[in-house]
Amino acid sequence: MEYCPGCLSNTLRIAGSGIVQILINDRPKDNARVLFNTNKMDQFAEDLEKRLDDFLKWLSEFKNLEAQKRVQVLTNDFKCSNDCRIPMNVKFSIVGVLITKTKLDAMLGKLGLKYSMDLKIKDS
Ligand SMILES: [Zn+2]
Repeated sequence: MEYCPGCLSNTLRIAGSGIVQILINDRPKDNARVLFNTNKMDQFAEDLEKRLDDFLKWLSEFKNLEAQKRVQVLTNDFKCSNDCRIPMNVKFSIVGVLITKTKLDAMLGKLGLKYSMDLKIKDS
């Protein structure tokens, strides 16, 4: 559980809908974003896998990149139950929130095989 940067309490919860950003080795990519709606989580997992696949396909075209790739999936779309404003630049991982670690690990395992990459979740 993340702490609210405003009141420093354990009061954050995910918004009902929003957008997540994928970073690989701390780098973003223009369209590496996925919408989420907490009522449509199967759709989210599907869309996330598709965007990850696009990102990795793009990365696989470059030579001499780090063999190890650390993946983060972050969002600013959390709400504090004390109504604090969360600054736009503060982002939290959605692992364990919008997707289980097990499911994301499995997704990265599958895509890692497809692109011969060492993919792991980066703890943020
Ligand atoms: Zn707060």
